[in-house]
Amino acid sequence: METSFVHSIAEADPTRVDLLGGKGAGLAGMARANLPVPPAFVITTTACRAYFDGDRNPPEGLWDEVDAALEELERQTGKGFGDTANPLLVSVRSGAPVSMPGMMDTILNLGLTRSSVEGLAELTGRPLFAWDAYRRFVRMFAEIVFGVPAQPMDQATEHALPNGRTEDVDRIISLVDRLERITLGHARRPIPGDPREQLQQAIAAVFDSWNNKRARDYRKANGISGVHGTGVTVQTMVFGNFGKDSGTGVAFTRDPATGVSELYGEFLVDAQGEDVVAGLRTPLDLQHMAEVMPEAHEALAEIAHRLERHYGDMQDIEFTVERGKLWMLQTRRAKRSARAAVKVAVDLVDEGVIDSREAVRRITPDRINELLHPVVVPDDDAVLLAEGLPASPGGAAGIVVFDADEAAELAAHGTDVVLVRTETSPDDFHGMMAAKAVVTTRGGVTSHAAVVARGAGKTCVVGAGAIRIDYDQQLLRVDGTVVSRGEEITVDGTTGKVFLGALRTDEPQLDEYFERVMTWADEIRTLGVRANADTPEDAEAARRLGAAGIGLCRTEHMFFTGERIEAMRQVIMAPNAVARAEHLAKLEPHQASDFEGIFRAMDGFPVTIRLLDPPLHEFLPRQEDLLGRITDLKLKLKEAADLETMDRLIDEINEAETILDRVERLSEVNPMLGHRGCRLGIAFPEITEMQARAIFTAAVRCVEQGIDVQPEIMIPLVAYSSEFAQQEKVVRDTASSIFNRTGLSIAYKVGTMIELPRAALTADRIAERAEFFSFGTNDLTQTTIGLSRDDSSRFLPGYVDRGLLEYDPFQTIDIDGVGELVKVGVEKGRKVRNDLKIGVCGEHGGDPASIDFLQGVGIDYVSCSTYRVPVARLAAARAALD
Ligand code: PEP
Ligand code: MG
Repeated sequence: METSFVHSIAEADPTRVDLLGGKGAGLAGMARANLPVPPAFVITTTACRAYFDGDRNPPEGLWDEVDAALEELERQTGKGFGDTANPLLVSVRSGAPVSMPGMMDTILNLGLTRSSVEGLAELTGRPLFAWDAYRRFVRMFAEIVFGVPAQPMDQATEHALPNGRTEDVDRIISLVDRLERITLGHARRPIPGDPREQLQQAIAAVFDSWNNKRARDYRKANGISGVHGTGVTVQTMVFGNFGKDSGTGVAFTRDPATGVSELYGEFLVDAQGEDVVAGLRTPLDLQHMAEVMPEAHEALAEIAHRLERHYGDMQDIEFTVERGKLWMLQTRRAKRSARAAVKVAVDLVDEGVIDSREAVRRITPDRINELLHPVVVPDDDAVLLAEGLPASPGGAAGIVVFDADEAAELAAHGTDVVLVRTETSPDDFHGMMAAKAVVTTRGGVTSHAAVVARGAGKTCVVGAGAIRIDYDQQLLRVDGTVVSRGEEITVDGTTGKVFLGALRTDEPQLDEYFERVMTWADEIRTLGVRANADTPEDAEAARRLGAAGIGLCRTEHMFFTGERIEAMRQVIMAPNAVARAEHLAKLEPHQASDFEGIFRAMDGFPVTIRLLDPPLHEFLPRQEDLLGRITDLKLKLKEAADLETMDRLIDEINEAETILDRVERLSEVNPMLGHRGCRLGIAFPEITEMQARAIFTAAVRCVEQGIDVQPEIMIPLVAYSSEFAQQEKVVRDTASSIFNRTGLSIAYKVGTMIELPRAALTADRIAERAEFFSFGTNDLTQTTIGLSRDDSSRFLPGYVDRGLLEYDPFQTIDIDGVGELVKVGVEKGRKVRNDLKIGVCGEHGGDPASIDFLQGVGIDYVSCSTYRVPVARLAAARAALD
C-alpha cells in the first residue's frame, strides 16, 4: 500500500493516520462507515517526504497517480476537471498525522478558471455564486501558492464587499479583476488557467506549508517531534453558499468548554467554510440550524452520535449542507478545556464507552493545572467593560497590550499582560502563550483565538464586539470609555466578561468529575504523592488536594518572615555559642507552633522536616544595600545639627558596619557549594538542637491531643556518612531528652537527602544509619551536571533551541546522568536496608515526564509543590498504566 502515493478515501485504511494524516484518516473512517462524504483522495505523507528529499520536486509517478485519482472523481461525480460546462471543483487541504490547527493552508474551489466560471454560472443559474467562488479561489491561491501578501487583497475585498458579500455580480467580477492584477503585480505570473497546473502547484504549496514558520513554531511549542510531512486531501467541493437551503458549520459532539453532552457549534446559512472561521459574519448556534434546517440538523445529530461511538471520544466535525443535503467534511478528536476533558472522560465511562483506566489515560496530567486556575471573584463594584463569548475558562488580570511581540516581551520581564486584538492569527501564537489572557473583538467559539487559547488552557474571551480597537492610538474604546495600552483589565474566560481594572481572583472549586478521575488515578497508581509544604496553611491545602504527607518541609522558609528574620540575624551575629543559644530560644516557639500546625494538618501521615539548609548570609541584608546605607548615614551625620542625632547616627553606622563585617566574613565565592546543608548544623549544633527540640515538642503536644504524628527528620546535603552520623546523634539525643522529660515516646525516623553525587555513589554507607532517603534532584542536577541552578536559565533555553538538549534538566530529570545516579542510590541503599523508604522531593517530583521515569526506578513516593499534587497523582497513575 505504501508504494502508491495516492489513496482514494473509499479504499484507504483509516487506521493509517501516519500515512494519510489526521484529516485523510478521518475522511476514510467516515467513508468506510457509509457516512455522506464527498468523494476525495489523499496524497500521503510519504509523498510529502519524498518531495522534500527530492529538493522540493514531486516524486516520480506522483502526477500520474493524481491524474488517475482525478479521473475516478470525475467518474463518481459526473463532472469534468477543467470542463468548461460542468466543472469539477475540489478543495486542497493539508492534514498532518498530528493535529496542527490553523497551521497549514487550505485552498477551496480549485478547478475554476476564467472560462469554467461562466459554465458554472450557467449550470447553476447563479452567476453571483459562480463568480464569488472564483473570487475566493483567486484570493486563496494567490496567497498560499504565490505568497502574495494578504493585506492589499483584503483591502480590495473590504472596499468592494464591506459586509463580506454583495448581490451585485459586476462588483465581484471587478473585484476578481483587481485581485488578479494584484497577483500579477506581486507574483509576476497569472493564476494558472489550466486546472491541472493549479492542482499541482497547490499540492506542492501544501507540502511546503509543512515547513513554514508557523508550522515549525507550532511543532516546537507543542513538543511535536518524530512526525514528518503532511498529507494532502483533494476533495470534491460541496457548496454551503448555494442559497438559503445551504450552509456550513463546525460542531463539537459535546461542549468543548464545559463537556456538557450536547451538540455544540456554529452554523452560517449560505456560506462557505472559511466564513465561519474567519469571523467576518457572526455565526448562529446549532439550535438555529435545528429551526431552519430540521432534517439536516437531525442527520447531523445522528452522525455525531455514531462518530463518538465509533471513535470512542468526543469529535470535532466540519459539515456542509448543499441544497438541504448534509455532507461531512472532517472529523477529528476534539480539543477541549481541561474541565471538559475530565467531564467527558467520566461521562464516557458512565455511558459504557470506555473504562476508568482509559479515562485516566486520556487526561494529560499537566492540564489539571487549568482546573486549579484562579477564578474571578464576583465584585459588586466591578465595572463591566464588555462582554463576549466565554472561549476558555479561568480568570486573569493584566495590562492591555495590542501587539503579540510586545506581549511576549513584557511577559518575559514578568509583567502580566492581556493581549487584545480584533482577531488572532497563527502569527500571534507566541504573544497569546505569553499573555495571561486573550480578548478578541470578532469571531466565534471556533475562531483561531478560541481554539488556540482553549487548547493551551489560556483564559480567553472572543467576539467582544463592543470593543473598538485603535491600533494607531494604542487604545480601545467601549462607548465613551477609553482604555489605553498599559492600563489594567480583568478577563473572565468562564463567563465571557471583561472588566476594568485588576479584580481579585480566587481558587476554583474542584467538581465531582475531577474527584472521580482522581479516585480512579489513586486506585491505579503505585507511587505515593506527598507535598513540599512549609506552613500549616500549605499543609492543609496539600491535604485537600490529596497529598499523603509532606515530603519536604524547608524549615528555613519559616525564618524568612516578619520578626523571625530579625531573631535569625541575631543568631548569626551572636559572638559566641551562649549568646547564639539565647537568640535561638526566641525562634524555637515559632518553629514549634508551625510544626504543630503542620502535624495537625497531616494527622495520620508522615511529615518530612528538613533541617536548616541555606548559607547563613542569605538571612543578612545584601552587601550592596549595607554599603549604600552606611554611605547615606555618613552623609546625614555630616549634616547633623544636634548631638542627640549625631549619637543616634553613630550607633546606626556602627551597627551597619558590624553587620557588613559579618556579611563579608560569611560571604562565599560559591555559596551553593559552600557552608550550607548539614555543614551548618555541624558547625553550629545548637541550631540542629533547637530545630529538633521544636519538632519533638510539637510532636508531643500533638500526641497529647490525640493526633497521629509521624515525624521524619531529614539531614540536608550529606556527602559523607560521618556527617549524617554526627547530625543524627544530635537529633536522637534531643529527642531522648524530651521523651524522658515528658514521659512520652514517639516513633520517628531520621533520614537524609541524597542530593550530591557522592551521596548517591556511597548510598550503601549512608543507609547503614539513615532510615529513609529523599532525592533532592534540584541539587543533584546542579552538582551532577556542574550547572548552577540559579544561572542556567541565561543560556540553557538556547541549548534547547539549538537542539543540543531536548529539555531543561531542571524541569525534567536528566535520565542518563541524574537518573542513573538515582538508580545507583536506590540500589545501593536498598542493598543495605531493604525496607528503606525512598522519595524524590526536587521539582521533578511534580513533572509528569520525570514521574514516568521515577516509576520504573522503584522509589516509594514523589513530593511536589502543593498545587502540582493532583498533576502528580494523575501522572503517577498514567506511569503505572504504562
Ligand atoms: C533539592 O535540592 O532537590 C531540594 C529539594 O532542596 P532545595 O531545592 O531546597 O535545595
Ligand atoms: Mg537541595
